[in-house]
Amino acid sequence: MQYTILGRLQFITILAVLALPFAALLNQPVHAEVNFSSLAIDDNKPNAQPYEGAIFPDVNRSINTLGDSFIDSLNSVRTTSNVDCSLENCIALTFDDGPNQLYTPQVLDILNQYQAYGSFFIIGNRISAHPEIVRRTYREGHDIGNHSWSHPMFDELSPEQINNEYVSTQEAMVRAGVPASTMFRPPYGIHTAASLSTIPTPQMLWNVDPRDWNEKSVDSLVQHVLQESHRGSVVVMHDTSIVTTEALKRIIPELQKNYKLVTLSDMFDLEPGDRGLYYGLQ
Ligand SMILES: [Zn+2]
Repeated sequence: MQYTILGRLQFITILAVLALPFAALLNQPVHAEVNFSSLAIDDNKPNAQPYEGAIFPDVNRSINTLGDSFIDSLNSVRTTSNVDCSLENCIALTFDDGPNQLYTPQVLDILNQYQAYGSFFIIGNRISAHPEIVRRTYREGHDIGNHSWSHPMFDELSPEQINNEYVSTQEAMVRAGVPASTMFRPPYGIHTAASLSTIPTPQMLWNVDPRDWNEKSVDSLVQHVLQESHRGSVVVMHDTSIVTTEALKRIIPELQKNYKLVTLSDMFDLEPGDRGLYYGLQ
């Protein structure tokens, strides 16, 4: 009898221990009042296209559906390196079109190795395939920006489509376990009156473009970035190729001889509710 009671106690204890992680999960701060069931995206398909057929039946969703998450994220812009770019020589390295299974972790490793920070503008429809990479990027103190859901040309979209591209990506970030982003970078840098009035965050462009996506030579990419970059530069690159990854191993330590490599939220003194176009700090 005693043995049975002890056995039951042990069983209950084991159950309680097993349940702890789930209880902890339930206690996590809820980032959003997002009704995911209203989304008709199959989030497990990384190549899901947002505008085919009835994939987006609710085209009238507004940014307000993000509710508390969006407000929370605006209020929690992080200072990641405590650098005052009005006093220090800062450069912001930015990386577009991830998360990329192969190259984003390598770029993160290199940034880590040199204690440098960067800003990653991610594509919404690639998030659900690699949520752990997005969480790692956030955890390691880098900025995560919204780079649209499917990388279209924004001058060919209606305001409703622009809104969907933006909101769907914000929601995918929250689903991946990071705050919705406080900044946006339009694909190809294309912005219109409609996109500027529809998207409620600053739009972060660049003033150094080494066209790394079209670059075959590591030497040439390194040379381009080092020659063009100066205090206040925002450099656009892509965490999608071996050429960029290899070039970064030389670019970062070389730039660090004269500059701090910071996130965009370190470089610009952005306030919640700010809008506008940002190219660099002059
Ligand atoms: Zn892009």
